Amino acid sequence: MRYAVLGTGIVGRTISAKLASLGHEVVIGTRDVDATLARTEPDAMGNPPFAQWESAHPEVRLETFADAAAFGERVANTTSGMVSVKALEAAGAQNLDGKVLIDIANPLDFSAGMPPSLDPVNTDSLGERIQRSFPRARVVKTLNTMNSQIMVDPSRVADEHTVFVSGDDADAKSAVTDMLVSFGWPEASVIDLGDITTARGAEMLLPIWLRLWGALGHTDFNFHIAGARSGA
Ligand code: NAP
Repeated sequence: MRYAVLGTGIVGRTISAKLASLGHEVVIGTRDVDATLARTEPDAMGNPPFAQWESAHPEVRLETFADAAAFGERVANTTSGMVSVKALEAAGAQNLDGKVLIDIANPLDFSAGMPPSLDPVNTDSLGERIQRSFPRARVVKTLNTMNSQIMVDPSRVADEHTVFVSGDDADAKSAVTDMLVSFGWPEASVIDLGDITTARGAEMLLPIWLRLWGALGHTDFNFHIAGARSGA
């Protein structure tokens, strides 16, 4: 399968490397290829500059958002949530038409400092905004409720834990569930929340996720929905 992963941060890198390790063809997307390769400083979270990561992952090609999206049969959005719609506009609606669009972003607004707030929230979500902006894409919100390492290696968390999917298109959710299973998620750990409006709840887990990070002092944890299979 050909994947476009839009976003060169830690999430885009982690998802790209995993997909490539599973034998997929992966292009990672950025605003400006030369500018991204020219960076020499670690990012705000201390991740090494992109060129350093790229030299260790020559199997993943770096292209513009538009060229990457044109290449991908499936597209993952791993851009900063406040600018995701803008990044996807740069990718080009025609390059998203009919494709499964895996939205991993969170609309975290850091403009007033820490902790960030969510925008949109409550009566809307980034997942819905993306679906409204690109009505012919088949948006599936998933994986946004955990650290990037856990997304592709769920065994980092010893106990049972949960990944959510939200979206309007059942076939797209099924395709994304298959991708999650290929990442190592037991199918029983995947909870289909329903249509894309359910992305509100998945995104609204972020305030508690951020506080758990503070309380626990690490990011190797995840949510587990106890009783999900019992129906009791
Ligand atoms: P990030 O720093 O949030 O986003 C990096 C990407 O956003 C880059 O590709 C960058 O483009 C793009 N970008 C930044 N400003 C832009 C603008 N004005 N216009 C267009 N694109 C712009 O990276 P991240 O930490 O990997 O997080 C990615 C997403 O996943 C976020 O939405 C985050 O909330 C979510 N998430 C993160 C984690 C985690 O473990 N970090 C976990 C769950 C969900 P360039 O490539 O051109 O620089």
